[in-house]
Amino acid sequence: MVVGAGPAGLTVGCVLRAAGVDCLVLETETREFVEGRPRAGVIEEPVVRGLERRGLAGNLLERARRDTACEFRFDGERHRFGFHELTGRHHWVYPQQLLVTDLVREYTDVRGGAVRFGVRDVRLHGLDGDRPSVSYVCPESGRREVVGCDFVAGCDGARGVTRAAVAGRARVARHDYGIGWLALLAEAPPSADRVLFGCHPDGFAGQMPRSPEVTRYYLQCPPGDEPENWPHERVWAELRRRLGAAGAEPLTEGRLIEKRVLDMHDYVTEPMAFGRLYLAGDAAHLVAPIAAKGLNLALHDAFALGDALAARLLKGDGTGLAGYSESCLRRVWDYQEFSQWLSELYHGGAGGDPFRAGTALARLRRLFSSPAAAAAFAERYLGTAARY
Ligand code: FAD
Repeated sequence: MVVGAGPAGLTVGCVLRAAGVDCLVLETETREFVEGRPRAGVIEEPVVRGLERRGLAGNLLERARRDTACEFRFDGERHRFGFHELTGRHHWVYPQQLLVTDLVREYTDVRGGAVRFGVRDVRLHGLDGDRPSVSYVCPESGRREVVGCDFVAGCDGARGVTRAAVAGRARVARHDYGIGWLALLAEAPPSADRVLFGCHPDGFAGQMPRSPEVTRYYLQCPPGDEPENWPHERVWAELRRRLGAAGAEPLTEGRLIEKRVLDMHDYVTEPMAFGRLYLAGDAAHLVAPIAAKGLNLALHDAFALGDALAARLLKGDGTGLAGYSESCLRRVWDYQEFSQWLSELYHGGAGGDPFRAGTALARLRRLFSSPAAAAAFAERYLGTAARY
């Protein structure tokens, strides 16, 4: 039983179906909603290789853009960081909703997986026994259905119910950055063909190309700020100021089709397993979108969980499941640490504290003066295939 049809849940489902394991995916939203929900877009090369090995990267490899450089803007100057020249590696840019659409189609239409969209009030039962079950209210009949299973994959994101099932049995470590990001989608081509990071005394601003028609922008704002405080004119004036730099092309402005405030915080649930329940993706850990790692972590987890469940169910080999939580958590903590490091680089200059501003600027300058610092940043920014 897989709870949640996001990237993690659908990937676990696809891996299980490829191995011939029966599974049911439960999702509270409709298929149209999950296939249209815009979120992430930057995918690490090792993750794309993982999708490819499992036959899940066909459309992505055909359509995704390859990013070979990003650009920092600070002190009124542009500083291009050519990570491909440095490492021979790149990022893939593929909007999350396209990946989800591919995965839904692959899971249901190609691999014959069962999915129930629009279910309500999902509950987990008997997780510490050999035969757990999951129940939900059926959208058509309004009646509660109960389905028994061997294992439950908790892939229902940050607001799901599977995390709650381990409350009191797992440790949850949290970190609050004390800042917000206004997350925007503009109906406009990218202003530059690469990711832009504007580190400005008024706050961070970012540009992430998503497609030739749509571009994501971020603006640092107070936590809990309201999107209504950011009318069109204010958004574009602030983006122009914070991303402004000598020789930079003017921003390509357009209608704002998404505007929401994300309070920047992280959490990690340890361990990621309890009895017959295994958590994956945002259900287990949230990493603020500062380092664009959430989707990547969710897919790393899903590969490990799908493979481990298949090995256990088909060959009786439980070693993958036994080591699942520990190996995922090593990567999770590594990425959380990178997110904190990067947060200081982005936001340190904007808090009004001259000491923090000085050290953040030193950190930025080091990326462009020390080959060792540049190589270390590139390795973590691009993600690693290393086993943890
Ligand atoms: P989700 O995608 O949240 O999927 C969980 C699913 O479970 C959802 O479909 C939900 O509807 C469903 N669900 C919820 N409750 C229940 C329930 N009770 N029962 C059944 N189903 C339920 N990450 C990156 O790597 N790179 C980026 O560039 C990036 N940018 C981002 C930008 C924004 C604005 C945001 C919000 C996030 C971004 N992320 C990024 C993070 C990334 O989107 C998430 O980490 C990723 O979606 C996690 O996938 P998941 O499958 O674990 O969870």
